[in-house]
Amino acid sequence: MKHLRCLGRLFFVSGVVLGIALHSLPRGIAYAQPRSEALPLADLHFHAERGLAPDAVLGAMDRAGVTWAGNGAKGPDGLWRPFVEAAPDRFLPFAGQGAIGARIQAQGEAAWTLESPEIIRYLESLEQGLRDGRFRGIGELFVNNQNSHGVFQSTRYPADSPLMRRLLTLAATYHAPLSVHMDSDPQSIEELERLLPIDRNGPVIWAHCGFWIEADQVRRLMNRHSNLFCELSHRDDRAYGPRFQPVAITGFWRRLKPDWKALLEHHSDRFLIGTDADDLGQFRAIIGFYRKVLSQLAPDAAKRIAHGNAVRLFRLSQ
Ligand SMILES: [Zn+2]
Ligand SMILES: [Zn+2]
Repeated sequence: MKHLRCLGRLFFVSGVVLGIALHSLPRGIAYAQPRSEALPLADLHFHAERGLAPDAVLGAMDRAGVTWAGNGAKGPDGLWRPFVEAAPDRFLPFAGQGAIGARIQAQGEAAWTLESPEIIRYLESLEQGLRDGRFRGIGELFVNNQNSHGVFQSTRYPADSPLMRRLLTLAATYHAPLSVHMDSDPQSIEELERLLPIDRNGPVIWAHCGFWIEADQVRRLMNRHSNLFCELSHRDDRAYGPRFQPVAITGFWRRLKPDWKALLEHHSDRFLIGTDADDLGQFRAIIGFYRKVLSQLAPDAAKRIAHGNAVRLFRLSQ
């Protein structure tokens, strides 16, 4: 999703100010070793879109130390083609973001109850793409973006709808994680808790990790659901307008909040990095945020979150 692009400049200004602040850290506030700059990263919230050149993206990834990037395309699944042709080992194309989203917008309940012939036909083609390895994941699915829709249309349907149950089965069968954008309101969380047990082999990646949900609630959900993963885009400290207020996992000087540090280390096998950047300059700044976060974690936890979990989930070769 693309929130308030005009605020990107503000983000940079705050980044520069923050950079100055970090250079003047008082003695005694030191970050743990090893230096996170050495860790290869996997960005699980990168969208292919029109106007984005694969070479430019690969250049930005190389400069930031990002080895892999993926999620859905902002439009038809075919938008992934030039990226995969340019670097098949580095992009992780997900399917369904545009196609499923458009059918839900057009058909409403008939789409998420699987009563629409069009969605059934699309799911057949999606399964073929997963079977032959053209797609590595499913989504990003906008199950509930009522309070986080930015410039997009507000959508809400049950996280345990027949559509989501079918997609979870596909995720389990083809080792293709499901990326779910879902505001952390109680009803959606209840639905998600009914979806997850249906197939524990189906990984669900909660995109943006609930935007504002507290660490203790994520911990409770992860304790109960072994197939729940969290991707951290927009839990960074980028600037937003007054109408949209995600909560950062860090505080002053980008220090991890103690409950989030404890959670990231305790469930270090469940978290993934994501940028969801508006442009490649912002991409680099967001990666800087993650490197600062990773440098505050125990080395094994940092390695898992940086890329180890993605390697395991997507069966990547290193
Ligand atoms: Zn997104
Ligand atoms: Zn999203």
